[in-house]
Amino acid sequence: MRPLFEPRLVNDSFGDPGLYVDFRDERRALLFDFGDVSRLPPRKLLRLSHVFISHTHVDHFVGFDHWLRVVLGRKQRVTLTGGPGFIERVEHKLAAYTWNVVHRYEVPITLDVREIAPGGAGRSARFSSLRHFEREDGEPWAQQDDVLHAEESFRVRAAFLDHDIVCLAFALEEAMHVNVWKNRLAGMELPTGHWLRDARRALAAGAPDGTSIAINWHDRDGDHALTRSLGELREAFELVPGRRIGYVTDIRYTEANVEALERLLGGVDLLFIESVFLDTDAEHAARKNHLTAKQAGTIARRLRARAVVPFHFSPRYEERSADVIAEVQAAWQGSA
Ligand SMILES: [Zn+2]
Ligand SMILES: [Zn+2]
Repeated sequence: MRPLFEPRLVNDSFGDPGLYVDFRDERRALLFDFGDVSRLPPRKLLRLSHVFISHTHVDHFVGFDHWLRVVLGRKQRVTLTGGPGFIERVEHKLAAYTWNVVHRYEVPITLDVREIAPGGAGRSARFSSLRHFEREDGEPWAQQDDVLHAEESFRVRAAFLDHDIVCLAFALEEAMHVNVWKNRLAGMELPTGHWLRDARRALAAGAPDGTSIAINWHDRDGDHALTRSLGELREAFELVPGRRIGYVTDIRYTEANVEALERLLGGVDLLFIESVFLDTDAEHAARKNHLTAKQAGTIARRLRARAVVPFHFSPRYEERSADVIAEVQAAWQGSA
């Protein structure tokens, strides 16, 4: 199955965190964490529609300024989502600059900013260049289960983890792929057409067998209309689960964190996970509220991750990145 997304770390293993997720079929991208993004060309920064921020330590949020500088006057809208206090953080960043002429830019930009607190209570605010980026508070919102953002083709779920402060981990999940068996459709003497979209949607959403699907078509004999239940149609379709991508960074190695990750990312296809220190420096890692490579690999193993990409290495291992990677791999594969 052709994946919807192309995820790639913005920087090398020692650089600031950031996962850039390109859509294959649209000029659009998502970003998880706003570390230094100066390596990304402007056309890639302009593509961002939604940015999700784990927490606002400087290495995860310093890239906001560079991004804003690039897209000002060229992009209309972006949505930023973060944890408690995030709206205020964005407000302060914007308040650090002077905006006396920004309302005259040909393309005005609006930042829709959302924040979520543990427990699921959300707040929102808007900052528009037309109003000199003054804060306009929006409606409060409530999180549905652990879903932060949902569209027809994908959704983003999140869990709060302990990094001494709270920090969000993310799951990016493609919707179920629904393929049509054209030969089976022909065998059922059904035409292709618009109704397939309704059927696909209903199947992807897990609608019950009794759901009726209207099938309309036109041929040389005129107009035809049929109704079939989803149950009758089911064998003409194949359901393939979409790919799931995990982004986990800046957490302490605690059982509560691992269990929260199991709920969010159990069976994940591709896991990006911080591996800041080597396990010989485990005490230092604990003081810094970070994982060691071995702990990251152990978490990947417990999540049954199919692929793992470690990142956010401490500069102290500049010459030893192979050791960090080997330690993650060994724990993930269960040989350590
Ligand atoms: Zn960090
Ligand atoms: Zn941090």
